[in-house]
Amino acid sequence: MTEHYPIAIIGAGLSGLTLARVLHVNGIDAVVYELDASVDARPQGGMLDLHAESGQAALRAGGLYEEFLTLVDAGGEAMRILDEHATVRMQDDGSGGNRPEVNRGSLRNLLLGSLPGDAVRWGARVTGARALGGGSHEVALSDGTVFTTDLLIGADGAWSKIRPLVSDDTPVYSGISFVEVTLHEADIRHAKTAAAVGRGVMFALSEDKGFIAHRDPDGSLHGYIALKAPADWIKSIDFANTAAVKAMLLEHFSGWAEQLQGFITGADGPLIPREIHALPVGHRWNRTPGVTLLGDAAHLMSPFAGEGANLAMQDGAELAAAIARAPHRHRHRAGGVRARPLPPQRDLRGRIRDQYRHQLPCGRAPGNARPDGPAPPRPRHPAGERRQCGGVSG
Ligand SMILES: Cc1cc2nc3c(=O)[nH]c(=O)nc-3n(C[C@H](O)[C@H](O)[C@H](O)COP(=O)(O)OP(=O)(O)OC[C@H]3O[C@@H](n4cnc5c(N)ncnc54)[C@H](O)[C@@H]3O)c2cc1C
Repeated sequence: MTEHYPIAIIGAGLSGLTLARVLHVNGIDAVVYELDASVDARPQGGMLDLHAESGQAALRAGGLYEEFLTLVDAGGEAMRILDEHATVRMQDDGSGGNRPEVNRGSLRNLLLGSLPGDAVRWGARVTGARALGGGSHEVALSDGTVFTTDLLIGADGAWSKIRPLVSDDTPVYSGISFVEVTLHEADIRHAKTAAAVGRGVMFALSEDKGFIAHRDPDGSLHGYIALKAPADWIKSIDFANTAAVKAMLLEHFSGWAEQLQGFITGADGPLIPREIHALPVGHRWNRTPGVTLLGDAAHLMSPFAGEGANLAMQDGAELAAAIARAPHRHRHRAGGVRARPLPPQRDLRGRIRDQYRHQLPCGRAPGNARPDGPAPPRPRHPAGERRQCGGVSG
């Protein structure tokens, strides 16, 4: 029997989980399909600063703001900028700031823990989807099964398998590659490097390269070694050979201060390559019945803006609010996420189509639909980076 869902979200990242949570508090359940085998299948990365108008607002919409405050790293907003000699060029103790820092894994767990137990289907890799007509879609999984849905939401990140339904654009390599590192028990085992980082975030930049690092609440340092590099540079490196990678990176940073080189020499565990890609500025798509994109799937950008996760959460909260505001919104709370056999209820599909047709005009980002008022204040964007937009209709 083919399972059918009124709303299916692909991806249990911050955008998909925020969408699921805000739908949930509005009495609307959705299923989330996630390729990771389990919640702790892979490390989620380091710290994120959440902005009042986007990430924090999304948590408020999900009724999670107070709990989020208990996870905030007090003092984590401190920032310093160093040069290659580890000389401090600028610093700020972060007091009075309004961009609280939170560990990304803790934030994801907060969202996951706020959903019904069966909301996320783990170990489910979506391989593609096709339109069935009338706004419905069939979604294929790598295990050979399929399901259908009235509303398909691609929250599956940079290499979205849902994006091709609405757009031919693909991410472009930015020219910058990161190598992600973690140094555990930093104050004890890597005291000089820990002292260079200080209490919060540190940037050490020079000659088109550098180190970007945070102190995590558990006492570890989490950092990115950033380099300008050709597109095939990372692919040419055997990251399984940690010693060789460290030697190669040290060559790139020869002459830099010992405490900064310490991010390379002292890195624990595997070094994780991350090529930085972005979707074209102005990415948008024509309205496509029954499908839309959120977060990086819609507007992948370089991390230097510090906006991607914040916008992903804002997208999720605003799309959920748009669904909840619809005059004929549907509720599935009593039974949780439920599958039902084909054929789908025609009237339900029509109601979803109607609400999207009127609420998500093309030209606005999918999470930015405000049929009943002006758009909210937009977060700042660095020069040349603006939020891409698209839309959905039924
Ligand atoms: C190095 C780095 C540092 C960053 N730092 C910051 C920062 O400080 N602040 C900030 O705001 N942003 C930052 N960002 C950006 C931020 O990480 C992203 O914008 C944000 O995670 C996007 O969330 P998302 O939910 O849209 O996508 P993702 O977080 O990518 O989540 C997508 C989910 O979909 C799942 N998935 C993917 N494909 C499939 C499939 N085929 N089937 C099923 N599931 C699938 C994935 O496993 C994942 O769980 C950074 C990004 C990088 C690369």
